[in-house]
Amino acid sequence: MNYRQLKVGVLGGGQLGRMMYEAIIKWDLDIHFMDQSKDFPVGKICPNFQIGDFSNYDDVYNFGLDKDIITIEIEAVNIEALKQLEKLGKKVHPSPDALKIINDKGLQKMFYESNQIPTSNFQIFKNESEILHAIEEGELKFPFVQKSRTGGYDGKGVAVIKNQNDLSKLLPTASIVEDLVPIKKEIGIIVAQNEAGQIATFDPVEMVFEQEANLVDFLFAPAAISKEMAAEAELISKLLISKLAICGLLAVELFITEDDKILVNEIAPRTHNSGHHTIEACVTSQFEQHIRGIMNMPLGETTLLHPAVMVNLLGSANVSGSVNYDGMDTCLEKNNVHLHFYGKSETKPFRKMGHATIIDDSLDRAKEKAKFVKENLKVTI
Ligand code: ADP
Repeated sequence: MNYRQLKVGVLGGGQLGRMMYEAIIKWDLDIHFMDQSKDFPVGKICPNFQIGDFSNYDDVYNFGLDKDIITIEIEAVNIEALKQLEKLGKKVHPSPDALKIINDKGLQKMFYESNQIPTSNFQIFKNESEILHAIEEGELKFPFVQKSRTGGYDGKGVAVIKNQNDLSKLLPTASIVEDLVPIKKEIGIIVAQNEAGQIATFDPVEMVFEQEANLVDFLFAPAAISKEMAAEAELISKLLISKLAICGLLAVELFITEDDKILVNEIAPRTHNSGHHTIEACVTSQFEQHIRGIMNMPLGETTLLHPAVMVNLLGSANVSGSVNYDGMDTCLEKNNVHLHFYGKSETKPFRKMGHATIIDDSLDRAKEKAKFVKENLKVTI
């Protein structure tokens, strides 16, 4: 197969696209990106960058017309245009049908239910007053978690309602309401599939969240869970990608409950923050694996070569403006600290500006270094 004859189009030009481009430059593929500004992370480094809005029908359709394969680095794309492109014989990965399910938390939950995928109990509500009514009628009990069906990300669109006083936090949108899960650990698994049906998982990672911004603070690889638990999570992830018939990556976020049950929280059909460590710590990175999956190449070996910790470099609270990074020198003095800056011109509170991956033979030492990086590398103006 001459992969270089295939023209690939990627919708979105943020950091995930930028790292995808960095990963596959070595293969000299014919890859093109579309997003709204050349000043975005991909536009700054990739010559094949077209200006357009990935949520707009015409922009997506026209971008896809001369491509053989179309993929995404963000889910909020125009699905109708992708459907049309698929009808024209283009390969669209992930498929518009899978995207439609994943982009709606209500459909996602129904999909889990009808495929016997373990997830927390849920109910679907049209609006806030339906929820209030269900509470009055005794059909819905505290505590619960409300999630907007569409448009939520990084914890925006999630409300934890523990009692009557929290009702002011209810979101006014169509939503799902699910049990508040007693979470012991949050883990993530990235799984890939190609058109030939080959499936490969990366080892589970453990995610620790920043409370205020609800963004991943530290990610530990491997996750400190039993072999049996890891095998079960892998099995669930494989089942998900095969049932959804997704080519490329599927990132699966799971909860391990206090009583050691595994529940799927949510999924994303693309490269993911929980797989950034794979760039330095695994044989194949998640970004290369996604390209392998969508182009029907043989999937890469996923072995974790070293324990790793990933830390997101976020914009400081209350700071906005033209970005600077302080402390790069002290961090680079340490061995095996890998810094990535995404090329965003402006920092904003808690904006993802970059990340660092620290690898070490000992996960504990990597954790110490990661703490040092978090304390010493500051996103400033
Ligand atoms: P988003 O799509 O915005 O990332 P998530 O569904 O991942 O939203 O929720 C964000 C975070 O909220 C999760 O990582 C978890 O810490 C917490 N959370 C979500 N759902 C539940 C739940 N049912 N029970 C307890 N905590 C939850």
